[in-house]
Amino acid sequence: MTARILVVDDIPANVRLLEVRLLAEYFDVLTATNGLDAIETCENGKVDVVLLDVMMPDMDGFEVCRRLKSDPATSHIPVVMITALDQVSDRVRGLEAGADDFLTKPVNDLQLMTRVKSLVRLKTLTDELRLRASTTRNIGIEELLSRNFASEDITPKVLLIDERKSSFERVQKMLRGSADLDIATDPHAGFFQAAETPYECVMISTAFADFDPLRLCSQLRSLDRTRFLPIILLAQEGEEGRIIRGLELGINDYLMRPIDQQELTARLRTQVRRKRYNDQLRASVTQTIEMAVTDALTGLHNRRYLDSHLQTLFDRSVARRRPLSVMITDLDRFKTVNDTHGHDGGDDVLREFARRLRKNVRGIDLACRFGGEEFVVVMPDTDGAVAEKVAERIRAEIAQMPFAVGHAGETIEVTVSVGVSSVLKGLDSVAGLMKRADLALYEAKSAGRNRVVAKAA
Ligand code: GH3
Ligand code: MG
Ligand code: MG
Repeated sequence: MTARILVVDDIPANVRLLEVRLLAEYFDVLTATNGLDAIETCENGKVDVVLLDVMMPDMDGFEVCRRLKSDPATSHIPVVMITALDQVSDRVRGLEAGADDFLTKPVNDLQLMTRVKSLVRLKTLTDELRLRASTTRNIGIEELLSRNFASEDITPKVLLIDERKSSFERVQKMLRGSADLDIATDPHAGFFQAAETPYECVMISTAFADFDPLRLCSQLRSLDRTRFLPIILLAQEGEEGRIIRGLELGINDYLMRPIDQQELTARLRTQVRRKRYNDQLRASVTQTIEMAVTDALTGLHNRRYLDSHLQTLFDRSVARRRPLSVMITDLDRFKTVNDTHGHDGGDDVLREFARRLRKNVRGIDLACRFGGEEFVVVMPDTDGAVAEKVAERIRAEIAQMPFAVGHAGETIEVTVSVGVSSVLKGLDSVAGLMKRADLALYEAKSAGRNRVVAKAA
């Protein structure tokens, strides 16, 4: 895993020390000896993680962190504060400024590497989502990316897996008011509970009499539904080795007992905030992908979707020697609908047509708006005779019941012409299949409209 780490410290010897250790692990290293330079480097370059000294003249680390986190261009870059003082109050101040983690000087080598690696991993995920979100042209995403973080006023739903009563009661008390906390005392039951409930964070105690807590971590990481669920380990002094293994398994953070209330709430807040941000990114990526293949007026798939899927369905039918049929429908004299009822009236008809079309095809059929008043339905596992029946049913359903247009209770008679074709045995192609359906449609139009013509296979 190669990543670019920015080391910020006002004392050159300290910079050099960290640089050498990071270079030895094949990281790319950038350096800065003051806050302003650090911020500029983050704005310009591809920084994956910032290692930030707290005590610097002019602008201290807290202020640098605050500025990085409040600028949408840099707010997603993980910041690790490096503090000389092992003071809880400093850590809390840092977390409040938006820092993602801490290391205490002198920096322990293993902790440094596992921390950096785990943050790089997280950053890679966020970067990928940001990239996918911004390359798709969605106005909503611009807004989302420029906004700093998801809303923080909703109390997060959190699960604590801990079998010791005295311990979970203490955590319960500490989180009163800042989290909606469930407790699971049995690790196996806790795993299922985590998988079935939409938690925003799960905290796992390391103190089980008869169970390896890291097993739970790895199970949660391997399950789809909990893959991105933040995990915080509640560990004891002397368990550094276990924490490092946990970080390698993908836990997000840890706390040492005795747990400090401020640190607990601050770390929980960081995890929840990050999860909400990534969830929003992920959702908007999914939504954009859907929008790109959906017709806005009717909610059916659009032509782009048809183009990318018809070949697959065709290949599958040939490979499995199963029939496949398509129908092209075209509303009759649709121009006169627009002429007499206006474009909005025409749109009403198109929406209602799409609704009736969808109602009359199966879930595995692919119904698309091909463009204008033309629609295409691809029917896997359907031979020509059946497809013709389906087409006839749709034609009748359109002709029998007038369409409502406008608001005044007005209705209009609508008819549709349909061309049907099916995959031929032997030499055939998607283009041929579509061409035959189109010819059949043309014949239906010429023969007087409001009818189905099927090209015999
Ligand atoms: P035919 O029976 O031969 O198919 O006649 P037609 O009038 O339906 O055929 P033509 O292709 O000449 O006209 C289609 C019309 O559909 C023209 C266009 O203005 C209209 N149209 C295309 N897209 C939309 C749309 O999204 N909304 C509305 N209201 N009308 C549309
Ligand atoms: Mg038409
Ligand atoms: Mg047309």
